Amino acid sequence: MSAPLTLDGNMSRAKAQRALTEAFTKAGLDSAALDARVLTCAALGIDHAGLLRDPDLPLGEAASSLMAFAKRRLAREPVSRILGRREFFGETYAVGPAVLDPRPDTETLVEAILSALGGRANEALRLLDLGTGSGAILGALLRQFPRAIGFGVDLSPAACAIARQNLDALGLCGRAFILAGRWLAPISGRFDVIVSNPPYIEAEAVAGLDPEVRLYDPRLALDGGVDGLEAYRAIASAAASHLAPRGILAFELGADQAAAVDSILRSCGLEPIGRRRDLAGRERVILAGLEIQP
Ligand code: GLN
Repeated sequence: MSAPLTLDGNMSRAKAQRALTEAFTKAGLDSAALDARVLTCAALGIDHAGLLRDPDLPLGEAASSLMAFAKRRLAREPVSRILGRREFFGETYAVGPAVLDPRPDTETLVEAILSALGGRANEALRLLDLGTGSGAILGALLRQFPRAIGFGVDLSPAACAIARQNLDALGLCGRAFILAGRWLAPISGRFDVIVSNPPYIEAEAVAGLDPEVRLYDPRLALDGGVDGLEAYRAIASAAASHLAPRGILAFELGADQAAAVDSILRSCGLEPIGRRRDLAGRERVILAGLEIQP
């Protein structure tokens, strides 16, 4: 058994970074070296270039905050939550306990919408993001569609507060409106885009997820009911009466859910029009339009 991780103010930045990498590797963390570097930079308030420039400077007062960061990571808290922020589609979003940590995979959902609606990018589109969480999907879309307005809905008032904070910070508060409620219940009117990354994990599978997810993402954002498909049914059953002519519904999919969601969409008067794979090659997104135009 090796000595537990200890840091003090006299230790050099480079030595501290190595000590964290070693502790994280021993703990079985996948991205030990990257996490060690990012947390070391954050505790010191410097960027990667700063760390490379002055590796021999002592940690100084940053030692105690770096130690606290390391303990949290060893308790499997994701780096994004330790820092309280995450990059998504080129912007930075605050994350807190009330919201799902936005995943790089979900950028596939944004990309699928951009390519489906690319020709309409300068129209005054109406967007709706259901289960908006941090507001990352809505923020990314509003940035790409400069004349659009967007509504984000979340059941959690605490999540709504974070989404508002994030959209304000992006200068989008004049075009983004966040409402607390269940799926389409607080919404009226028709939309050119209805998008959701809903909870889609089978209830019984939540306990078997990685600790970073199971212990830190809100269960509300993960648990899709017994078969993982409850949110898709709830949203799809109300979506047809809220899609504008030529409007699209875009869902993120959990593993191996494409066929099941395809048939839920068809049973709700919606016509699947495309699927998109993520970088790992998994079917991650399904798009649908109205079967019969209003
Ligand atoms: N993508 C998350 C995961 O893999 C789940 C998020 C969700 O249920 N929408 O754990």
